[in-house]
Amino acid sequence: MPPRTNASSSTADRDIKRHFDKIPAVLSGPHKAGPRMKCKWCGDEASENVTLYQRPHILRCAVYKLEKEKKVIVNNQPSIRNAFKPLDDPKDLFAMAVYTSTANFSLFETPEWKAFFTKIGFKPPNRNQLAGPLLIQTYEKLKPQVLEIATAANHIQIVSDALNTINKKKVENVSFLINNISYY
Ligand SMILES: [Zn+2]
Repeated sequence: MPPRTNASSSTADRDIKRHFDKIPAVLSGPHKAGPRMKCKWCGDEASENVTLYQRPHILRCAVYKLEKEKKVIVNNQPSIRNAFKPLDDPKDLFAMAVYTSTANFSLFETPEWKAFFTKIGFKPPNRNQLAGPLLIQTYEKLKPQVLEIATAANHIQIVSDALNTINKKKVENVSFLINNISYY
């Protein structure tokens, strides 16, 4: 049997390495360390050794798998497909933009905004729709995605904060961080 050439295995190594950011070695000081590789998908770090660490990691990296199989997941889950309108529905996109920018739900009900929406021929959802069905729909859609990320993480930071609203209502919010990305 001919000896295995390096060409094929090094190509495969490159395929593996493209999923990682290289962290240079720290050559001196108290935190001296060899070169490390950080997974672009989940942020997991390990010493640079494709065979020993990076290859096995990418095979089990849940975040990478999730990204790769997102289409498959959506197509195979009738509950998700049937429960939600397609993502390119302008109303869904509008609602998502409102939630992620923490805009006031009635912000877009001023005469100027109304004039603008009339001009472009878009009827934005009103604040009742934003606070009700659209919020529930967006929550239900995002929840499984966030759960997948949380399940895949090595560690999670819990962040909690409390405040009083204008009406003196006490509100406590809890969010969590994975690799410095906040989910709330
Ligand atoms: Zn990973």
